[in-house]
Amino acid sequence: MADLQAIVDDIHAALLPRLGEGAVADYIPQLAKVDPKQLGLAIVTTDGDINIAGDAGTQFSIQSISKVFMLTLALGKVGEQLWNRVGREPSGSAFNSIVQLEHEHGIPRNPFINAGAIAVSDVVLSGHQPREAIGELLQFVRYVADDETISIDESVARSETSTGYRNFALANFMRAFGNLHHPVEHVLGVYFHQCAVSMNCVQLAKAGLYLAARGTNPLTGHSVVSPKRARRINALMLTCGHYDGSGDFAYRVGLPGKSGVGGGILAVAPGIASIAVWSPGLNKVGNSLLGSAALEMLAARTGWSVFDM
Ligand code: GLU
Repeated sequence: MADLQAIVDDIHAALLPRLGEGAVADYIPQLAKVDPKQLGLAIVTTDGDINIAGDAGTQFSIQSISKVFMLTLALGKVGEQLWNRVGREPSGSAFNSIVQLEHEHGIPRNPFINAGAIAVSDVVLSGHQPREAIGELLQFVRYVADDETISIDESVARSETSTGYRNFALANFMRAFGNLHHPVEHVLGVYFHQCAVSMNCVQLAKAGLYLAARGTNPLTGHSVVSPKRARRINALMLTCGHYDGSGDFAYRVGLPGKSGVGGGILAVAPGIASIAVWSPGLNKVGNSLLGSAALEMLAARTGWSVFDM
């Protein structure tokens, strides 16, 4: 295998002069405070090698990357029935768009836009109090990352709760269509807390290993999902993981990935590695600008691509 440490060091050095490009997500007050001049990279291979550069040990808000973990949990609970509540098509619109929902009768396009993720949180909430559903998610993330120290940043959850007008609108709209089964406040309580999970790049890359290794974390031996389900989650990440930038990400990087407005991206090189990058400055569609650039460079240097096996 290529010298991954040399590659991540080179990418970090090449992007250093660009630190601070893009705009932090200022619609969430707590995220607006994050110093944009940070960049972390971590690659964890399926053999257990870890290569890191820059701010790979700094905690950040994983935001929408949590949607991958919630989707995994929801599929575990209700299986294919989940697809009665949410679609599997790219949305071609912004992460928080409400327009499509009206046309499509409250069934969100996919589990990775906000509306879809809120419907998925509603599924995970079934039979639970909100606190228990949040606990289940946190326990799951700790399990897949094999790291008991991962926690939720309550200040981020509060910050989103007090300013999440659009998410309240999306949730109320879906409730009106009968596609939320629990009170809006409960579902959003779960959703805002899942978005507020704090991780660093190494923890996040480890958490994604099950997707890189046919559903089983090769370092712990923990079986998380079947190989078929891991493949399908990866397919959704590739087609829908970057909102209205999903096509461009697939074109430039060629790996399944999921971004969050905290500036993190989890990417999967199936059979090879799980990769996490983080840089808070976002591009126009809400994906980490330097994080995407770093992954494009990594894919070019390693040749990793799901289109070239
Ligand atoms: N918590 C964010 C929101 O709901 C997540 C968006 C994202 O990371 O893309 O607005």
